[in-house]
Amino acid sequence: MVNRRHFLKLTAAGMAFPAINNFSRFCQIIYDKDIVLTEEALRIHRSAIVVDGHNDLPYKIRIKGPSALESLDLMTNRPEFQTDIPRLLKGGVGAQFWVVVGWMGKQRNGRSGPSYCLEEIELIHKITEKYSSVLEMAYTADDILRIRQKGKIASLIGIEGGNAIENTLGVLDSYYRLGARYMTLTLADTIDWIDSATDVAKHDGLTEFGEQVVLEMNRLGMLVDISHVSAEAMRDVLRVSHSPIIASHSSAFALAETPRNVPDDVLQSIAKNGGIVMVNFFPAYLTQEGAKISQNFWEYVHYIQSDPNLSENEIDKLENKWLEEHPVLKCSVEDVVDHIEHIVKIAGIDNVGIGSDFDGIPSRPEYLEDVSCFPYITQVLLNRGYREEAIHKILGGNFLRVFRMAEKKAKKL
Ligand SMILES: [Zn+2]
Repeated sequence: MVNRRHFLKLTAAGMAFPAINNFSRFCQIIYDKDIVLTEEALRIHRSAIVVDGHNDLPYKIRIKGPSALESLDLMTNRPEFQTDIPRLLKGGVGAQFWVVVGWMGKQRNGRSGPSYCLEEIELIHKITEKYSSVLEMAYTADDILRIRQKGKIASLIGIEGGNAIENTLGVLDSYYRLGARYMTLTLADTIDWIDSATDVAKHDGLTEFGEQVVLEMNRLGMLVDISHVSAEAMRDVLRVSHSPIIASHSSAFALAETPRNVPDDVLQSIAKNGGIVMVNFFPAYLTQEGAKISQNFWEYVHYIQSDPNLSENEIDKLENKWLEEHPVLKCSVEDVVDHIEHIVKIAGIDNVGIGSDFDGIPSRPEYLEDVSCFPYITQVLLNRGYREEAIHKILGGNFLRVFRMAEKKAKKL
């Protein structure tokens, strides 16, 4: 854990980036040119199955209190969120992974990971039921296709943080039965069996028990998500996993050197494994300057989470306030597509996808402010010369292949 003095030192260092202002102006010059959605891009986008690997709306609703969903109308525009039904429809989203945030730190209010997870899994089912004219639960790749044919959006569940299983393999079966189709192995903290990218490494990657977790997930057909884990842990997971893995919301380390991103050697291993990296839209993971700010942000997250007197709501507010006070440089959908292109270059066109992190990212790139904006990715890919088939792979085809492959492997194991 980071003590107060250590944190203040880091924050002070984090605020001293003399080059930032000039760079910001430079970015603005580049990005001020308008990106216009063309009929061709919209046609390609509408005919794709757009799969977003990571959306934190359920967490945002849960921390508002137990009756928050009842009093909320997601069929209308909700400016307090980055997600609502009209904007999901406008964005052409075909399948959405709603993310269950297992509690990041130690016990809070006498509660630990699993109780938060169960509550939030239930909430995702309730959201899907409440808006059943638009949403429907999906548990397989075929479910996604079937639901899309009906013109609905497939709801899927991902669990974020391996502390959700409290060191018990059998709990994975329960989560799978409740609908979880991926688990991010850790979150901000290093846990008993795997190192986090944003905490002190204690295991040099993955422990023996961690290997069993990966194999059990393979057996179930639950996708192993390497977002948030240390680079060494990513390499260990890729050594152990029989099934293709995913990074549900990570970008490329070569373009933004934060440990939250995926280094090139891991991208090459992912190509061999058949997995995908679903690119995160958080500006702090998109540029080198943003990456420096993200380091200080994670230190701050550790610091406030170590205060047992703060509620989840208060922590959420403090995190947002810190990010407002430490604005990340302007960036745009062009940066997101730079990351997509880098992953295509190093891993391949079959190994990249989209993992927005909407409602988990207080700042967003220009043209990607909310879930209605996904067509801009299609537009920029088209502008850069990508063909329809390649764009469809990036938007969701690659995810469907990975999901199907993990299902097949599960049957054999
Ligand atoms: Zn995350």
